[in-house]
Amino acid sequence: MDFTLTPEIQDVQARTRAFVADHIIPLEMNQANYDEHENLNHANLEVLRERARAEGLWCPQVPKEIGGMGLPMVGQAVMYDEANFSIFGPAVFNCAAPDDGNMRVLNEIGTPEQKEKWLKPMIVDGKRGAIAMTEQHPGGGSDPTMIQTSAIPQGNDHWKINGSKWFITGAMWADFFITLVRTSDEPRRQLTAIIVPRDAEGFEIVRKVPIMGPEEHGGHCEISFKDVVVPDENRLLNVGQGMRVAQTRLVPARLTHCMRWLGLARRCMEIAQAYIEEREGFGIKLADRESVQMMMGEVARDIQIGRLMTMHAAWLIDRHGGRAAMKNVSMAKLFCAGLLHRAADTAIQLNGARGYSKDTILEWIYRYARQARILDGADEVHKMIAAGAFRREGQDFWNWG
Ligand SMILES: Cc1cc2nc3c(=O)[nH]c(=O)nc-3n(C[C@H](O)[C@H](O)[C@H](O)COP(=O)(O)OP(=O)(O)OC[C@H]3O[C@@H](n4cnc5c(N)ncnc54)[C@H](O)[C@@H]3O)c2cc1C
Repeated sequence: MDFTLTPEIQDVQARTRAFVADHIIPLEMNQANYDEHENLNHANLEVLRERARAEGLWCPQVPKEIGGMGLPMVGQAVMYDEANFSIFGPAVFNCAAPDDGNMRVLNEIGTPEQKEKWLKPMIVDGKRGAIAMTEQHPGGGSDPTMIQTSAIPQGNDHWKINGSKWFITGAMWADFFITLVRTSDEPRRQLTAIIVPRDAEGFEIVRKVPIMGPEEHGGHCEISFKDVVVPDENRLLNVGQGMRVAQTRLVPARLTHCMRWLGLARRCMEIAQAYIEEREGFGIKLADRESVQMMMGEVARDIQIGRLMTMHAAWLIDRHGGRAAMKNVSMAKLFCAGLLHRAADTAIQLNGARGYSKDTILEWIYRYARQARILDGADEVHKMIAAGAFRREGQDFWNWG
């Protein structure tokens, strides 16, 4: 296996790193630059998005012909890591969740008309979308087969949708919702994916759910559908293929979480290193204490494990598609979610009281990190996926290619 980056990817890496250092990180320490989501405010975001687009650092996940960068997954792994060296980075380059995954799935399975109507505005005008799967008890959460939001045919060419979802990221800013609905009780074919425009009659944002950490733009919302009628042309793939749509979106989207979290984890180490190089106690610098070096060494080792797991899964997707990499993505997501949490925790500890303050971004990352072990599949679900694959595949589980 060859880890050499192509000249194009090296160039993207260097330019993203410089952009983040020069234009994004300087905004982090001024609270005036934050919005109600504890994220970059709209005015700054729009200026930076324009600049990123002008510099060709825009939509790395979609093909060049439609205005993106057309990077392979391996290249995205490099760029997203650099982008999220700042907490504000991914949104600036249009590679933040959930739009990142929504653009990806529309590009992969949308019809030409669906791409024109829903995908193009995301690339050209920075329009936004959301993915609406999760429901409160007794609806679908970890187990999507429990989804209750229903769609029944209306005439020959429309659907009528009723139900509710919650924790829908970006909902307040979204123009459309890729919604998983129940269209039959036939096992394995219960679900269908239908795009619901925000302005559809009967669609409502019930509330923004208050959460412990910072939010993606548009928050995490509870939404409801009351007799919402949408045309059949808004359906993605066939009736009964909702889970296929979900997996097409979720497998690479989970891996892009890993890519971004690795950047945040590296940032935690950098902030910790700067402090321990400067701070002295009991006669020596913290950086010279072996016990402190053990803590930093463990985080460095874990980041490198996460990078290798992520790069391997990216390489698999580039060669064989998302299905082939499903268990690898699950294991990478499981590992990187825990790693981000440990990296932020270690950096806070080594910064002492300063780490617990808002004088650094560590407490932001720490609160943000807790969601990583729940969203897009809780840790336990990814362990279940890995164990299930091992049970089925036996020694083939360990194949590299
Ligand atoms: C910040 C954030 C953003 C989100 N964004 C979106 C979004 O945009 N769109 C969307 O549709 N959803 C979104 N979600 C929802 C997320 O995908 C779900 O929270 C997740 O899939 C788990 O579902 P649940 O919350 O219903 O947990 P439940 O299914 O109720 O499970 C609760 C807990 O039970 C345990 N558990 C569950 N299954 C198993 C098992 N098989 N074995 C062992 N233990 C198990 C786990 O510890 C799990 O955390 C978001 C969640 C968060 C936190």
